[in-house]
Amino acid sequence: MRLAWDPTDEAFREELRAFIDAHCPPQARVGKDFLGGDDEIIPDWAREWQATLFDHGWMIPGYPPELGGRNATPVQTLIYLEELARQGIPRSVHFGGYAIVGPSLLEFGNDEQKAMAPAAIRGDTVWCVGMSEPDAGSDLANLQTRAVLDGDSFIVNGQKVWTSYATVAQKCFCYVRTNPNVPKHKGISVLIIDLDTPGVDVRPLRQISGGSEFAEVFFTDVVVPASNLVGELDNGWRITMGSLAHERGGLWVEGVFGCQRAVEGLVALAERRGLAGDPAVRRRLAAAYERVATLKALGYKGFAGFAQGSSAPEHSYMKLATAELRRELFELGMDLQGPFGAVVEPAFTEERARWQQGFFVGLAANIGGGTSEIQRNTVATRVLGLPKG
Ligand SMILES: Cc1cc2nc3c(=O)[nH]c(=O)nc-3n(C[C@H](O)[C@H](O)[C@H](O)COP(=O)(O)OP(=O)(O)OC[C@H]3O[C@@H](n4cnc5c(N)ncnc54)[C@H](O)[C@@H]3O)c2cc1C
Repeated sequence: MRLAWDPTDEAFREELRAFIDAHCPPQARVGKDFLGGDDEIIPDWAREWQATLFDHGWMIPGYPPELGGRNATPVQTLIYLEELARQGIPRSVHFGGYAIVGPSLLEFGNDEQKAMAPAAIRGDTVWCVGMSEPDAGSDLANLQTRAVLDGDSFIVNGQKVWTSYATVAQKCFCYVRTNPNVPKHKGISVLIIDLDTPGVDVRPLRQISGGSEFAEVFFTDVVVPASNLVGELDNGWRITMGSLAHERGGLWVEGVFGCQRAVEGLVALAERRGLAGDPAVRRRLAAAYERVATLKALGYKGFAGFAQGSSAPEHSYMKLATAELRRELFELGMDLQGPFGAVVEPAFTEERARWQQGFFVGLAANIGGGTSEIQRNTVATRVLGLPKG
């Protein structure tokens, strides 16, 4: 494996760095590591930043310019993800639109729906993704929200939960059951539901971090035009499997570099608190550094295979490993503060409760996008080839 970038790719990185220096708002530099307590769910700076990225071809670099990109190669896309993650800069504070909905509309939608993709990726239209229900999280195929075709419309009844950004979204990319009489993953469809349709009730949920980015969404006899069906009827399962393809090889990057930033921050924190010479602290920091370095090497190894068209089993492990490491690192940040680690009031803590808030966010990272237990099952069965338990 060659661990150097070629000059064209280095030039690409330099161009990106210059763009970030010129355009990135200061608020983006403390980005989403430290969510929590912010009542403005999508602040103005985040909307403007996302639109600026899109307009300069830096939103999804692998896409063509009209979709917010610059036809970048997979290696350049990796460099892009790495550079943003290294600096801790988010592309958007609401990822559903550009990461899930936009790509899915482009891949599965009809012409009218494809035309909605640029606004989803630029963030002009805010989308939420309605997958989870009270009994359908890890077991997504168990979803029960019903959509019954009645002439030119579907009539939708049911409930979603943990729907990020539903309180500020205009549209929901909603997974519904259209056929209860077939094996459960075969009777699911995707509907575009305007959230201001009569019968839709969005109720915010308050999180442990103090923020409220989630909501429950209730549907009571909601009339949705049949033309809002995305893809084929009863074939929505394919769409759950199909999104994120444009940067699949780089999904691990944010996790690993987020951990790297955390380790750098921990070293600074230990020095500030006079703990850098403490053998127990040194051991924990060195172990953390070692784990980050190992994960980074594993990520690049997987990417090298991915870029040559083979599958990257290493990457199945990365979400699990980085989510768990991240939580441990932020916990260490609380430990290093001594008794103040138990306080969440920004004024009385190190770095405005960065470590406390990051710990809470880290709890969510072990659940969202697939829990750690489910990731372990995936590694066991699909990577190691063990029998299903
Ligand atoms: C920050 C965040 C944002 C989210 N945003 C969205 C969103 O925008 N839209 C959306 O639809 N959903 C969203 N979710 C929901 C998320 O997808 C679900 O919480 C997740 O899929 C887990 O499902 P669950 O909560 O129903 O837990 P369950 O599936 O009930 O799991 C409970 C526990 O049992 C374990 N478990 C379950 N099944 C198995 C098994 N077969 N083997 C071993 N262990 C098992 C789980 O790992 C977990 O520890 C979000 C969640 C978070 C944390």
